[in-house]
Amino acid sequence: MDFGLSKEISELKEDARQFADTYIRPFAAEWDEKAYFSRELFQKIGQKGYLGLPFAKEYGGKAMGTLAYMTVAEEIAKASLGVALSYVATVSIGTAPIAMYGTEEQKTKFLRPLAEGRELAAFGLTEKNAGSDAAGVETTAELSGEYFIVNGTKQWITNASYASVVTIAAITGYKEDGGKVISSLIVPMDLPGITVKRPYDKMGVRSSDTGEIHFDHVKVPKENLLGDQNAGMKQLLQVLNGGRISIAAISVGLAQEAYDKAIQHAKAREQFGGPISQFESVQFKLADMAVETEAARLLVQKASFLKDRGDVFIKEAAYAKVFASETATRNANRALQILGGTGYMREAGVERLLRDAKILEIGEGTSEIQRLVIARQLLKEGADKNGRN
Ligand SMILES: Cc1cc2nc3c(=O)[nH]c(=O)nc-3n(C[C@H](O)[C@H](O)[C@H](O)COP(=O)(O)OP(=O)(O)OC[C@H]3O[C@@H](n4cnc5c(N)ncnc54)[C@H](O)[C@@H]3O)c2cc1C
Repeated sequence: MDFGLSKEISELKEDARQFADTYIRPFAAEWDEKAYFSRELFQKIGQKGYLGLPFAKEYGGKAMGTLAYMTVAEEIAKASLGVALSYVATVSIGTAPIAMYGTEEQKTKFLRPLAEGRELAAFGLTEKNAGSDAAGVETTAELSGEYFIVNGTKQWITNASYASVVTIAAITGYKEDGGKVISSLIVPMDLPGITVKRPYDKMGVRSSDTGEIHFDHVKVPKENLLGDQNAGMKQLLQVLNGGRISIAAISVGLAQEAYDKAIQHAKAREQFGGPISQFESVQFKLADMAVETEAARLLVQKASFLKDRGDVFIKEAAYAKVFASETATRNANRALQILGGTGYMREAGVERLLRDAKILEIGEGTSEIQRLVIARQLLKEGADKNGRN
């Protein structure tokens, strides 16, 4: 067992840290204030090869594995969670479904430009009546000759305005018992009948693009059906299992950033004749922040390791997501408390962490849904296992 990162991943981490400190951190506050998504930045991220880290070389990726990708995601999140959310959305839930279930033709056509970093992708599951209950999807894709005719509206879709493709869940038919047949389709965003709006004024992750995608009789070639027509929902849930590790990774980045800001301030700020770090209540907060951040990082690394080894990682991804996201919120809150009034002011950059963190407990399965997933897995396991691995 080795807890160290390989030389290759350590170098990648340092490279990503420098990249984030140069091209993201100096602009993060302004992009947050203006709710500005920087496509130029994503061009640079693409040129660095970061959009292709987990994908096969034959399709333009770097084939460096999940841990390498999560390490970069954490570094980007330290500088801006908004940028990081768009980053992991395009890689883990936008591009990954095509890599996981695409045919040779689909991978050549759609995966390559994404893995090479030239284009961005989105994932369209959520609708007005389909949140935690993904089966509530109402968007339809009716087969007519050579095309699926898509009608419906997807809401709160990350990267909606900038994606070249979106993988959607849509009803393609009904079973004998009346149940929906939900399938996944790869939809190029330049097809006639697609409109994107940005009607949302978000609390946090404001530099991430979030839009509503409306499909009005959109003709999607039938060869864009992704994977098994009858297993669309199962496929998308499997995609979300992988996505959860990336949400956990960016949570670790935010938790670490909160800790870094808190300890720096605790050492520098003097009250009652010395630094506030002399007070046990401040020290205990710092200790809890450090312990939980490290534990969250280890959960991300374990889930990444299992994923790369080809093992089942459903429970471990949910462990990582629920613990890391809640740690991020707790750490942002603790950091703000340690900074006191200074933290309450925008200039300190800590109130942004608190506003940004909350989405981590909501997106790609709320904390409640993670606990449901974990409990289901635990109850399925044999008595000999009892939650152990
Ligand atoms: C900024 C942002 C970006 C997003 N990006 C995307 C994207 O790119 N693609 C996409 O498809 N979606 C996206 N989403 C949607 C996101 O995945 C959903 O918000 C999330 O799945 C939760 O659904 P909901 O918000 O409708 O909450 P609801 O399902 O309405 O849940 C509300 C509350 O009820 C609880 N609850 C619901 N069901 C249960 C249950 N069975 N047991 C216990 N508690 C329960 C929830 O935990 C939550 O606390 C995004 C959302 C946001 C805010």
